[in-house]
Formats: sequence, structure tokens, C-alpha cells
Amino acid sequence: MSWEVIIGLETHAQLSTVSKIFSGSSTTYGAQPNTQAAAIDLALPGVLPVLNRAAVEKAMMFGLAIGATIPNVSVFDRKNYFYPDLPKGYQISQFELPVVVGGSLSFNVDDKTPYRKTVQLTRAHLEEDAGKSNHELFERESGIDLNRAGTPLLEIVTDPVMYSAKEAVAYAKTLHALVVWLGICDGNMAEGSFRCDANVSVRRVGESELGTRREIKNLNSFKFLEDAINYEINEQIRILEDGGKITQATVLFDPASGQTRVMRTKEDAHDYRYFPDPDLAPVVISGEWLERVRSTMPELPAALQQRLMSQHDLSAYDAEQMTQSKAHAAYFDTTIQAMGKPDAKLVANWMMGELAATLNAHALEFSNSPVTAAQLAQLITRVQDQTLSNKLAKEVFGALWAREQADKGAAQVDAIIEARGLKQVSDSGAIEAIVLEVMNANAAIVDDYRAGKEKGFGFLVGQIMKASKGKANPAQVNDILLAKLKG
Ligand code: ADP
Ligand code: MG
Repeated sequence: MSWEVIIGLETHAQLSTVSKIFSGSSTTYGAQPNTQAAAIDLALPGVLPVLNRAAVEKAMMFGLAIGATIPNVSVFDRKNYFYPDLPKGYQISQFELPVVVGGSLSFNVDDKTPYRKTVQLTRAHLEEDAGKSNHELFERESGIDLNRAGTPLLEIVTDPVMYSAKEAVAYAKTLHALVVWLGICDGNMAEGSFRCDANVSVRRVGESELGTRREIKNLNSFKFLEDAINYEINEQIRILEDGGKITQATVLFDPASGQTRVMRTKEDAHDYRYFPDPDLAPVVISGEWLERVRSTMPELPAALQQRLMSQHDLSAYDAEQMTQSKAHAAYFDTTIQAMGKPDAKLVANWMMGELAATLNAHALEFSNSPVTAAQLAQLITRVQDQTLSNKLAKEVFGALWAREQADKGAAQVDAIIEARGLKQVSDSGAIEAIVLEVMNANAAIVDDYRAGKEKGFGFLVGQIMKASKGKANPAQVNDILLAKLKG
């Protein structure tokens, strides 16, 4: 029996405002408990919330970036529930009239056969975060920290239109890159600035109704998101194949065991007794305000990708990689600008390959790469003009990274090549001499080759490269050896 998977994501992106959504308290992370909680955040009687304009503008930017509708009027509601870290007894959120409606995100899914996917968004609404209960601090009591209470969140909800964990992760990464690019969220997942709830259901192929979903709460890494969804899919299929039923529920993922467990059977919207918050006026967004916000927005990653594809002939995949962040895009652009004959594909390959791997291993970003864009440009130029083979270029890259020669900017590349004697030999006379030497030393293999057993060719190439200490131009070695064997 085969199964179909359906996923919808709800993402909480913390908006990077200086102060909270309804109070003047700071939103800075990591302060001493309750030092950033004003009377509003403590829910003292008689206080009134005042909406933070910057939070609304960041939500507007998001809506504009995904091609959504931004209604003229949106409304804050009270979502009523009791929890110790929610002293008001309700969370201020938006329900019937959210600030952002619809929109979509498109991205590449890097599967066996990569494909392009567009995810339709349902809505995005503004709300306040709750505080935090700290159960580990004391032995017999729990502590409540209200520093986080009132932090502005944008909750971004998709339609149920993703069909695998891979698609969900690709969507979440694209969304993450976008909110950071727009400067509306710092994207720090470890600190909880960007966290996903994954709604997962399965149904038998051919079924038209959606299956009953379970919602995995608060996934704050892409790895957890992927693992939790995959676990949940297998678990639901197992239950159904055993003749069981799925009950709508909220589950938690435990990264240590790789399993989910039920936290509570799922409440529905009516359990929250939503109603418009009488303390807050409806948010009215004029066309003029919207245009003002639009004019402050940077070029969007999607537009830049189109430009890279048409100007530099990059594939959709490469273009997406080069626009993962503004730092990626700037590094790519500076490298291209510094090259006489820019080869965008080669630059993309180096950035995604050697450079990304080394940055990753040292927990560094493109913005603070020890190998500068000017140096990478010069290194690639030396591959283009055949001074360096790819192998030697990697060696030079290692030396650049280690600052083996005093930093001379781009000139450091040539200084390293000179000091290490790494110039590739492209002088055909010199290569020919080595080829003949190796052929003489391996007469039996040469005879076999000429008798039709061509297996030994690779071995001979290897010997020639070795004899040249890796410096012979590999393409020339191939050509000359072939000619000599045939001749
Ligand atoms: P709630 O507000 O109660 O969480 P919604 O109906 O707004 O519920 O849906 C929340 C999320 O769950 C959305 O992202 C939606 O796409 C997704 N979703 C709804 N039904 C299903 C389903 N049967 N399977 C998977 N995802 C679903
Ligand atoms: Mg929900």
C-alpha cells in the first residue's frame, strides 16, 4: 500500500525590533531574568498596550516580498488560555484579519532529479511571544522569566502543499534566508528567533480527503525539522497499517531519541475564545505607507537570482546558492568584478566547494572569510591561464587560508605560487620529455596498449604526473601521451 505525505508549516519569526510589540522594553536576548519586563509585559492591571510601528512595517516588508495581499485593515485579537508564562491570561495575536494574506515562495528542491517548487502561503500575522518557564533553575520551584513576553513575532503559515521532509526543509531554508535578507529577523535559530511547527498527515494514494494531522512544535534547526517530519511520517504510517487511527495532536520532538511524543491532543480555534482586543485600534495601512515601506526594501533574492541567471548564465541552483545571504551575493559579485574574464560557473563552484567547506569547518561566514574575494579571483584567474591545475590551486588555497605569505591582497596568490614553485608546466617540450621517459620505463604497458589493452593508460598518466611532481598540465599530458602511443 503506498502513502502520500502532506505537510503544512507554521513558522514563528521574531521581528528584529529594538523594543517589544506593545511596550518599550528591550528585546535583547540573554539579559538577567525579568530585567526587560515593563508593566505591560508583567500584565499589571490598568496598563494599555501601544503598537510598535516598526513591527508592522517589518510584517509589511515580508508581505511585499512574497507578493501577498496587505489588507487595508487588520485587527488584533485575544487568544485566551492559561499558562504561568502568560500573566494576562491571553496572548495578543491576529485571527480573522491578519496583516498579510496569501503570497508564495519558490525554490529549488535538490532531489535525485532537482525540481522547482512553489509553496502557497495562507497568511502571516503579528503576535506577541509569551514568557519562559524555567524548570531547571531551582530544585523544587520553577522560575518565570518575562523578558521574552511581548517580543514581536510574525507567524507565517503555509497551505498544506508540501509532500516530503525535503520540500519542507527547502521551504524553511528559503524562508529563513528571505527574512534575514530583508533585515526583519536575525534568523538565530539557537536563540529561538526562527522556529517551525510542522503539521504532518498521511493518506493512502488515491484518497481525496486530507488525513488527520499531528503538529510537531518548536523545531529550531533544519536537521530537527527533517528528522522529526520523517519520524512522524513513518510513525503515522505504522499506526494506520496496524489498523489504528491518528488523533489530531500536538507532539514534541526529542532530538536525543529521534522520536516524537504526544504533548496534548489538539485544541481547535474555538477553544481559544478569540475576540478582538478592545485595547487596540484596528491597524490601518494606507497605500502611501505601503509604498514608503516598499521603497526602503533591498533587491530581493529572487530578482537577483534572475539577474545572475541572465547576466552570468548561472543555473537556477547555482543562482540560488549565490544568493543564500547578502554576504554570499556580495562575495560572488566582488570576485566576478575582480576578474578579467569572469567565469561565473567557476566562481560558484569554488564558493560552494573549497571555500564553503573550509569556512564551515572553522564556523566562519563569507563576510569574514580569511581568503578575500580579490584573492579568490586571482586564484581562479591562475587556473584559467593554466598556471595552476585544479589540484595545485587547492594547495594554493590552503596556503592563502593559512596566510603562508604576508598578506599582499591578490598578489599573495602569485607570491605563494612563486615561493612553493607550483607553476604548472604547460611547456609541451618539457612534458614530452617526461612522457617519453615514463614510456621507456614502462615498455610492457606501452606494448600492451598498442596491442589493444588500453587499461594501462591511466597508470601511465599517473606516473607522468608523479614524475612532474603534479605540475604537468593534465590536459596536455593526455594529448601528448595519446599521440605518442598512437604514433
Ligand atoms: P491551526 O490554526 O489550528 O494550527 P490551521 O488550519 O490554520 O490550524 O493549519 C495550521 C497548519 O496546518 C497550516 O500550515 C496548514 O497548512 C496545515 N494543515 C492543515 N491541515 C493539514 C493536514 N491535514 N495535513 C497537513 N497539514 C495540514
Ligand atoms: Mg497553529
